[in-house]
Amino acid sequence: MTDAINEPIIEFSNVTKRFGILTVLDQFNFSVAKGEKVTLIGPSGSGKSTVLRILMTLEPFQEGSLRLANISYHEERGKGPFQASERHLREIRKHVGMVFQSFNLFPHMTVLRNVVEAPVRVLGMGRADAEARAIELLDMVGLADKKDHYPVQLSGGQQQRVAIARALAMRPRVLLFDEPTSALDPQLVGEVLSVIRSLAHEHDLTMLLVTHEMRFAREVSDRVCFFDKGRICEQGSPEEIFGAPREERTREFLSSVL
Ligand code: ADP
Ligand code: MG
Repeated sequence: MTDAINEPIIEFSNVTKRFGILTVLDQFNFSVAKGEKVTLIGPSGSGKSTVLRILMTLEPFQEGSLRLANISYHEERGKGPFQASERHLREIRKHVGMVFQSFNLFPHMTVLRNVVEAPVRVLGMGRADAEARAIELLDMVGLADKKDHYPVQLSGGQQQRVAIARALAMRPRVLLFDEPTSALDPQLVGEVLSVIRSLAHEHDLTMLLVTHEMRFAREVSDRVCFFDKGRICEQGSPEEIFGAPREERTREFLSSVL
């Protein structure tokens, strides 16, 4: 391990997140090293998506602070959500990409435009450069020949691969995947996992992945975190978590999904 990999790029400090009277995260602490590949596993409703959505600035939180790539912000108690300035949120969004279970491509845009639009609008990249880069990325996910198709003309697995190319077009330092294969027919899961697997080899890219694909998690993760009721109940290397879980809750969960 190099020094660079030990430097945290993400740090949640005592983050409390509530939805009305429901406290989903209570004084949550979590840090991720630069380049680390971390998988979040755990029962439905345990707060995994909430953690990713907070990182992507899609959800405000009520207490604590969050630091991402040296940009730090907090939500001040009593002042209501999203006290973080728009400028901070925009800065954070430049560094983070997210891939959702439901693909979320723009239906009225071709595959190429889906990938080109954000770099042009948000990063101010020239359209020709953005298109050249988009074609490289589409080639990487095996879909350069579909660039003029619309999302509805693609299979779920192809749409998800476009969504990954679209996230990468922003050159994020952190890439978040929230159950990227859960909405796919079983025969389409492999093609999406193989794209994610190739990204997992990128040394500088920090990845957080929520998945129920335990064999895949074991293969690509540096660290696996088992969530239960808004807490990281147990974490460790894939060998530790899948091979010799210490907590009863982890063992119960794994026996229910494996
Ligand atoms: P997971 O991804 O582990 O399944 P989530 O982070 O989606 O869990 O949800 C954690 C808890 O927060 C659940 O109890 C869920 O019902 C609740 N929750 C999530 N989003 C909302 C929301 N927008 N409004 C109210 N409750 C929510
Ligand atoms: Mg979820």
